[in-house]
Amino acid sequence: MEHPENSSEYKGLAVNKGVETPSSVNPYLKKRKAAHKPMSVNDYVEGIVKGNITILSQAVTLIESVRPDHQATAQEVIERCLPYSGKSIRIGISGVPGAGKSTSIDIFGTHVLEQYGGKLAVLAIDPSSERSKGSILGDKTRMESLAIHPNSFIRPSPAAGSLGGVARKTRESIILCEAAGFDKIFVETVGVGQSETAVHSMVDFFLLIQLAGTGDELQGIKRGIMEMADGIIINKADGDNIEPANLAATQFRNALHLFPAPDSGWIPKVLCYSGFYHTGIKEIWEMIHEYVAFVKDNGYFETRRSQQNKYWMYETINQHLRDSFFQNEKISKMINEEEKLVLEGNVTSFTAAKKLLDYYFNELKKE
Ligand code: GDP
Repeated sequence: MEHPENSSEYKGLAVNKGVETPSSVNPYLKKRKAAHKPMSVNDYVEGIVKGNITILSQAVTLIESVRPDHQATAQEVIERCLPYSGKSIRIGISGVPGAGKSTSIDIFGTHVLEQYGGKLAVLAIDPSSERSKGSILGDKTRMESLAIHPNSFIRPSPAAGSLGGVARKTRESIILCEAAGFDKIFVETVGVGQSETAVHSMVDFFLLIQLAGTGDELQGIKRGIMEMADGIIINKADGDNIEPANLAATQFRNALHLFPAPDSGWIPKVLCYSGFYHTGIKEIWEMIHEYVAFVKDNGYFETRRSQQNKYWMYETINQHLRDSFFQNEKISKMINEEEKLVLEGNVTSFTAAKKLLDYYFNELKKE
């Protein structure tokens, strides 16, 4: 039987005359698009050198982009900004999660800007940020007073890729920040492994934040990381924690004596402070100033920067070669098969590697 609802006389579901549905295409879009012409290399460089923060931000986004055309523009912008860069103090700040990095950077940064003026950029290297879906470091909400300071620029860690890739992008961002007139650069990293080495390769002073408490703090940090530190600062030296912090400082000082003298000739200092109660902050900046004066005097400041340039030249070559190899379509197909054969024990790792490399280089020759 015919359903009553299908009858044209059925009144149960009537469509009322409503408002006119707007067009799904915004009539102003055309105009807006025309205004959004992509910026040229010149536009970027001019904006950056004038200290325009919006353009600086956009240029950093360009550095972080994986699109080849963005990368090409970014490289040109960096190249053009290089002559304006280099005139800053670059400070690496590391510590395990919870050590108080963001609290300290917030207080320390605000102190430095208020006492000494200038401009401060806070960048980050967080290789884990991809896994945690979005960067956890450099987040503005974690640095409340610095985030609203007119002379600060806070940028979270680039999110994608390997540690080397993330670090390279941060290093390139340093150049742009310096060209934009930032004379103090902080690079924050989580103190849990390789990222310290990456930070160390781009800063003038490496600051390690430690905590006192359990009595076995020296066991917790790798010797390599301590050897990189130009200053160790023990946070949360407040309330009942003052005495343990002082004790930890003594232990660190003693431990540092066991290491060979660093190339800089500078004996790393150990200081206690409280990011929370703002005590000992002034002394940290004075220590950094003392260090910079010391190494500028003995020539190590320049030596370290040239060594870093050399490091980044090789690092960039390595990365490009690796990318070119692994992103090669044929190689990425072949490599799974070879990996399987190696895992099954049917082919040695050397034979598999040689087969892939031979193929890669022979293919390249033909192109
Ligand atoms: P991050 O993970 O290293 O960035 O550490 P946070 O800055 O987020 O700090 C971790 C926790 O330690 C937070 O709950 C802070 O409130 C606390 N904290 C940071 N600095 C101090 C300090 O100087 N004294 C005390 N008592 N707590 C602090």
